[in-house]
Amino acid sequence: MSSYPEFETMPIGRTWRAGAAGKTRETTDPYSGATLAEIPQANEADLDEAYHVAVAAQRDWAEAPPLERANVMRAAADVMSRRKDEITNWLVRETGGTLAKAELEWSLVRSVMWEAASMPHHVEGRIMPSDIPGKESRVYREPVGVVAVISPWNFPMQLSNRSVAPALAVGNAVVLKPAGDTPVTGGLLLARIFKEAGLPPGLLSVVVGSGSDIGDAIVQHPVPRVVSFTGSTPVGKGIAEKAGLKRLALELGGNGPLVVLDDADLDLAVRAAVFGSFFHQGQICMIANRIIVDASVHDEFTGRFVERVRSLQVGDPSDPATHLGPVINSSQLEGIQDKLARARDAGAEQLIGGDPFGPTGLCLPPHVLTATNDVATAREEVFGPVMTVISADGDEDALRIANDTEYGLSSAVFSRDVERAVRFGRRIEAGMTHVNDSPVNDDSNTAFGGEKGSGVGRFGGQWAIDEFTTDHWVSVQHTPRDYAI
Ligand code: NAD
Repeated sequence: MSSYPEFETMPIGRTWRAGAAGKTRETTDPYSGATLAEIPQANEADLDEAYHVAVAAQRDWAEAPPLERANVMRAAADVMSRRKDEITNWLVRETGGTLAKAELEWSLVRSVMWEAASMPHHVEGRIMPSDIPGKESRVYREPVGVVAVISPWNFPMQLSNRSVAPALAVGNAVVLKPAGDTPVTGGLLLARIFKEAGLPPGLLSVVVGSGSDIGDAIVQHPVPRVVSFTGSTPVGKGIAEKAGLKRLALELGGNGPLVVLDDADLDLAVRAAVFGSFFHQGQICMIANRIIVDASVHDEFTGRFVERVRSLQVGDPSDPATHLGPVINSSQLEGIQDKLARARDAGAEQLIGGDPFGPTGLCLPPHVLTATNDVATAREEVFGPVMTVISADGDEDALRIANDTEYGLSSAVFSRDVERAVRFGRRIEAGMTHVNDSPVNDDSNTAFGGEKGSGVGRFGGQWAIDEFTTDHWVSVQHTPRDYAI
């Protein structure tokens, strides 16, 4: 089995070809700076072609027996297994994630494909009771048609695939726009895998182009019925304004609280907090952006936390000993450093930190601050290796601080009394709360989603089936009836 050939073309409609925008963008390794591919970008005409071919291809695909669609998903999961090294290698090089992160992402993608293989057989209609004599009311559950998927760069393959695989499995076509920093792992590699798995041409187009060039068109084009967007809250809000009456699945930013109550097992909390703060350099929507610790254990927790953070290795993500690789690009780095500077100016005390280093200067050592909830690193989503530890005066104060944010994605509570933690957790305004575990969920089989500024909708299992299908009520009048006029 040879490696996939090159990633200078993209599947637009039924053919792999260069984008027609007349400009090329490099995708680079954020650690070494090496160029990985030079990709001629797509423009609005490419997008239009992708959507129109998708409409035609989807009709046959929706008619295909569920088993046929399930078999493509199973075959895609098999390709994932066969090509594990090639895929994880791409994930390390294009996202700057460590080997551990790449392996987790690879396993999540494969699990979603397995799960998607069951979905074609779980799309069920209903027969409704009717008050009209002789009438039969059927509700067919149909694919929505064509789905637009827009994904971010941090877990690009998983965050594309968690929409792409279920949407295809239940009979839709998909037009996917990956993020500018991750066109291969967020789109082109996935498309190669589905092609190898036997997905008929035209059902999955990947348009590689900048959000500012084709972002509006992908959302506003008349063809897509559902827009599945994962990314930042400001961009998500803009999409909601532009989408008109289209159905939206929005998975947006986070500012997760990890709460340590006064009776928590501190060793457990520290270990989970280090993973939940710094895995993938903190560039995860579910990451703990703030640790809120009861004042009675604040100093002890913080001391142990900093000690463990000090032992983390930062550097080359392809080295198995590395815990943190580079952040994705220089503008992200500048944004993180700006938030750090504003937090320090506002009185935050920095307990550990350091200057960025490495071949591209993008390896930022982990930072830990103690502060109030009002400093920039606590108030705003940092999306980098920065943690703000905040002291709380009892449970009610901890809850007030946890909920004092515009976001509501993931969260965590630590207590030796599990039911106390569950009671506390249910009062956190969030879509997800984990008791005695990290807020970064590594379980693929979930009800994933946020509240408040973190989005609308849920991913996983039945939620995904519902998102990408719709009801069609068809009634049959079996006997002649009387009408009012
Ligand atoms: P981003 O919002 O900048 O970009 C996301 C995607 O939207 C990219 O593909 C980008 O090209 C595209 N885009 C940009 N402008 C657009 C426009 N005007 N119209 C249409 N598309 C446009 O986000 P990012 O920097 O790639 O990712 C980081 C953010 O994503 C963080 O806020 C993070 O919390 C969030 N995120 C959320 C989840 C989740 O599941 N809730 C998961 C991962 C990341």
